[in-house]
Amino acid sequence: MSRQIAEVVVVGGGIMSATLAMLIRQLEPDWAITMIERLPGVSEESSDGWNNAGTGHAGYCELNYTPGSGQQIDISKALQINAQFETSLQWWASLVQAGVIEQPTDFIRKVPHYSYVWGDQDVAFLRQRQALMSQHHLFQDMEFSDEARQLEAWMPLVMRNRDNKGPVAATRVDYGTDVDFGALTRSLVKELARSPNTEILTGTQVNGLRKNGDHWVLDLQPLSGGEPQTRAARFVFLGAGGGALPLLLKSQIPEARGYGGFPVSGQWLACSNQALAEEHAGKVYGKAAIGAPPMSVPHLDTRVINGEASLLFGPFAGFTTRFLKKGSPLDLFKSIRPSNLGPMISVSLQHLDLTRYLIREARQCHAERMHTLKQYYPEARGEDWHLERAGQRVQIIKRDENGRGKLEFGTEVVAAGDGSLAALLGASPGASVSVDAMLNVLRRCFPKRFEGQWSESLREWIPQSTQEILSSPTEAASVRRHVLETLKIKS
Ligand SMILES: Cc1cc2nc3c(=O)[nH]c(=O)nc-3n(C[C@H](O)[C@H](O)[C@H](O)COP(=O)(O)OP(=O)(O)OC[C@H]3O[C@@H](n4cnc5c(N)ncnc54)[C@H](O)[C@@H]3O)c2cc1C
Repeated sequence: MSRQIAEVVVVGGGIMSATLAMLIRQLEPDWAITMIERLPGVSEESSDGWNNAGTGHAGYCELNYTPGSGQQIDISKALQINAQFETSLQWWASLVQAGVIEQPTDFIRKVPHYSYVWGDQDVAFLRQRQALMSQHHLFQDMEFSDEARQLEAWMPLVMRNRDNKGPVAATRVDYGTDVDFGALTRSLVKELARSPNTEILTGTQVNGLRKNGDHWVLDLQPLSGGEPQTRAARFVFLGAGGGALPLLLKSQIPEARGYGGFPVSGQWLACSNQALAEEHAGKVYGKAAIGAPPMSVPHLDTRVINGEASLLFGPFAGFTTRFLKKGSPLDLFKSIRPSNLGPMISVSLQHLDLTRYLIREARQCHAERMHTLKQYYPEARGEDWHLERAGQRVQIIKRDENGRGKLEFGTEVVAAGDGSLAALLGASPGASVSVDAMLNVLRRCFPKRFEGQWSESLREWIPQSTQEILSSPTEAASVRRHVLETLKIKS
């Protein structure tokens, strides 16, 4: 492949860059694409199976996607995420049919999704929520129960030996999923590497970038030593996870002004008793504690990572100044610029409670964490569980309409006005909606091609758009049948 100016450079070897690079490869087989990853292998940060919860977020179990109460429960966010996840499922199913992914079970498994609550008020909320959601075609298979026998059959570990005499209830969607995003990323990169027009550089850090006429020049440093290098590209995607914000700021595009980051770390309790992992089959999501950020909703999870089943509980959020799990404690301080100082100070003052909460969480001892776990699995024994570090999330800080800072918990694509650069900031709902997020990058940065010659090719891989899935029960049902069968999620 020529070392001239590539059409595309993607920075980072996680699920986002891999998805974008593969979509572009499908649309433009002749384009030169370079992927640059600082670690020795791809998918070793947030996309690695052990660093995220692996929930195929579809709005089936996450109570924080449906705020409100009584008749005022708002299900619009859950619907949007469900339709975005269906977009991912369609694309993944097409990759299986094309032989790019050999076995769907290498990365995705059926794991029922449960929402689980206790106490009169929350049980009434869950009943109301299911009544509302199941009226929509996308959630019509959601079941509700407050019957002990049914709940015991659904979630034996959760219900065994509950000494709480109050009411409990759960909803279930049988065809929820667990996704090994690490395995998926590796399959995508393996396929990309087969193409003569693709260059995969690992162990190489992007230190900076600058615009030079109609292209970008990136400064690279091989981390095992060796001479600094450069790469040039007409389009650059900063899919560097927590490393995207510092690079976006270095790009000096006007659209990056005012953006900052608020890092949140995560930890799991991992079960070392394999027999327990085999007794539980589900992702059981509860309600977040008061004052907790939305991504620290506790859940007891069946995980299948690299083909092996395990049981995890968490995440326990914590405060950190690193932007990547394998990053530096100086990351937060190095990201401060005159343009984002105001929003960052304003957010730290507005969210002192959140910072205190995160510090308190990080300082918890094993017994305190076991106490939280026992609300979901009353018979849990301390010796069966140990602490594991999860990945980092960098939440978005940006200027609000009044020029002050605001903290956001979603994901956002920031793109240069001329479409030559885009960055993905934030981490939620994350990898589950990676395909929709990367289609958004293509729509923003290549508008003419996206609406023109690419639209037909995309239909081959993703037959139904998010909007069509949301609005047409017949189309949505046929797409769902197809993807569940192709991905072997529903037997
Ligand atoms: C605790 C936790 C739980 C989560 N649970 C879920 C879940 O259940 N479901 C879900 O869908 N999502 C979940 N997520 C979110 C999901 O993991 C992320 O959205 C997704 O993995 C992000 O992918 P990425 O490719 O953007 O980043 P990453 O996977 O982090 O990849 C970025 C890559 O860029 C590299 N990089 C960084 N800086 C540079 C540089 N300067 N030069 C070269 N390379 C660089 C990094 O080494 C890394 O490999 C969770 C995240 C966390 C932290």
